[in-house]
Amino acid sequence: MMKEPRACGKCGQRTVKPAIIDHLATRSVNGQEFQTTVPGLSVSQCSNCQAIWINEDAEDLITQAILVKAGRPLPNNAIAINEKCELSISKNESPVK
Ligand SMILES: [Zn+2]
Repeated sequence: MMKEPRACGKCGQRTVKPAIIDHLATRSVNGQEFQTTVPGLSVSQCSNCQAIWINEDAEDLITQAILVKAGRPLPNNAIAINEKCELSISKNESPVK
């Protein structure tokens, strides 16, 4: 199960490893910002610069948590969710060279 640490898109060091964190996420729903903490989230984190890389599964969990926070527990594609967290740009965790 051990994978080679991947290169970090921020600092370039090969120090990105799986991590379980309590992630404070900020997203905007229909122009209104919501913040929620998603406990025990599986992410990839750079041990050098602490950048967090969020995969699609984790992003789904964040989206659901934000929608609950926003009083919209049902996923709805019509709701515009704009990512505010700049650290989540790597949605598909595509390798960064
Ligand atoms: Zn880094």
